[in-house]
Amino acid sequence: MADRAFGPRIVVLGRQGSGKGTQATRLASKYAVPHVSTGEAFRAAVKEGTELGRTVQGYMDRGDLVPDEVVEAVIKAHLFGPRAPAGFVLDGFPRNVAQAEALELMAGPRGLDVVLNLEASKDEVLRRIAGRRVCSACGANYNVVDHPPRSAGVCDACGSALHQRDDDTEEAVSRRLELYEAVTAPLIDWYRQRGLLANVDAMGSPEEVGSRALDAVEAARDRR
Ligand code: AMP
Repeated sequence: MADRAFGPRIVVLGRQGSGKGTQATRLASKYAVPHVSTGEAFRAAVKEGTELGRTVQGYMDRGDLVPDEVVEAVIKAHLFGPRAPAGFVLDGFPRNVAQAEALELMAGPRGLDVVLNLEASKDEVLRRIAGRRVCSACGANYNVVDHPPRSAGVCDACGSALHQRDDDTEEAVSRRLELYEAVTAPLIDWYRQRGLLANVDAMGSPEEVGSRALDAVEAARDRR
């Protein structure tokens, strides 16, 4: 029988543009747990001009990975500090095996409930990234073709201006996709070996993919 005393601990994996942010937001709202996106936390830090922001900006602009110890400190503070939430949806972390090992240690005996692998083809993610827009204030994601805001260029949630991400340039996108194949994709097998992986077909509308993602989480919770 599933232990439903706590909100689930979910990790969302997938190529850039596979819909991690969109699906993580939906799942977090469904289960009333925080959605933690390391990319989003870094973008906010850059915008606020904090020390963290100054540390990560160069890496982000090039499409490179921020050093593991910097990312791990952010995760520890958000998810495993004194006011740790019972469940979470992690988006953008872990990005390599070293980070996955660090997360395994931080997660302790309770571990994770499920790792969703959003599967979308390279052609599809390139198409989605070209149309991607993000809110400059609250970080909400849109797509000019698939998921346009009600009013062009304006966030539905908070009314602020939408823009293209600074790292959605052609060079940075191809660097990030290259890094994904080289260092993040090996996590698919790593989590499969631990019995945590659930593949989710990520081709389709956010609603279709969302319903598959939810089914996968529920199936995993039933198995726990
Ligand atoms: P994302 O929004 O997940 O695409 O992340 C944007 C950028 O933030 C990445 O290209 C990296 O520079 C940095 N970043 C986010 N998460 C991580 C991570 N787990 N490890 C290293 N760098 C990260």
